[in-house]
Amino acid sequence: MAIEKESFGKTPYGEAVERFTLINTNGIRVRIMTHGATLLSIETPDRDGNTADIALGFETAAEYGPDTPYFGSTIGRFANRIAHGKFSLDGKDYQLALNGDGIHALHGGDRGFDKRIWTADVFEAENAVRMTYCSPDGEEGYTGNLEVSVMYTLTEDNELKLDYTAITDQATPINLTNHCYFNLAGHDTGNIGKQILTMNADRFVPTDGTGTPFGELRSVEGTPMDFRASHAIGERINADYECIQCLKSPGYDHCYCINQKVEGELTFAARAEDPVSGRVMEVFTTEPGIQFYSGNFLDGTDQGKGGCLYALHGGFCLETQHYPDSPNRPQFPNTILRPGEKLTSQTIYKFSVV
Ligand code: BGC
Repeated sequence: MAIEKESFGKTPYGEAVERFTLINTNGIRVRIMTHGATLLSIETPDRDGNTADIALGFETAAEYGPDTPYFGSTIGRFANRIAHGKFSLDGKDYQLALNGDGIHALHGGDRGFDKRIWTADVFEAENAVRMTYCSPDGEEGYTGNLEVSVMYTLTEDNELKLDYTAITDQATPINLTNHCYFNLAGHDTGNIGKQILTMNADRFVPTDGTGTPFGELRSVEGTPMDFRASHAIGERINADYECIQCLKSPGYDHCYCINQKVEGELTFAARAEDPVSGRVMEVFTTEPGIQFYSGNFLDGTDQGKGGCLYALHGGFCLETQHYPDSPNRPQFPNTILRPGEKLTSQTIYKFSVV
């Protein structure tokens, strides 16, 4: 199947953008653009064979700019928060931009990887597109020339595979993820509260109201954070539980610690199901964590594809990653990449119906 390549307008910064379309013989169609190596859409059939686009996003590349919700974007150099934008590495102190509520560094800074043009290479035989970005030394306050790539592969088993690599010429923190917002009923169908989530996680990373971890990993047992048995996302989203209520906009916005038998081994992380359409998505990853974010800051002001407005909890993210603020938390899995090392990471979103 030929991978379609088209021009897709310009970024808000004026650069030309390309869009690639991957399809498989089971009716799945995935679109990716070079601006931010962003997942633009994921069209999948429901149990009756009716197709819907289950990824939130904008109509044009020009709308993917500052102050957007990172729809489908590749996030780096460091996804999630670095508390107060500060860290020390090999005896040197660093100060990053405080673009997260004016307090923390968030999702790579003012112009992170989601707002950069990536170079695309097509691999027809694998039904894959690889996006590569070279982040120069000093960009957004990070040290080291970093070469990063993400390969998107769509398989005949209905898996969308994301394979990341990175190399650097100086030590740097790195935490890569994709920030896709899913709504398994269709991107424009509103509240995801009735969709059912299961997570392979006994613990999560509790934070204060600004998203800074306390440093402990807490058991989910007996809390509304527990998704080891399936629960509708909306069932406990407003529960009277401190970690939910302390957030600026209450809901789920927490990193779960995946029950991984061997560090770095591809492991089942989460499963989401829409009982109405029958669509199911399973997530597998080599990462130790997954940020479950219930779209708490969607507020009906973002005009998405087809002119729809994305309201509160209109989509959920399952962002595979390392734990937030890891550069300041030696007890968390390592996020420092050094010269001579190669980062590899894989996440698989697998689509089916029940
Ligand atoms: C963060 C949220 C944030 C959202 C959009 C998520 O990964 O955890 O707190 O609002 O990204 O920026």
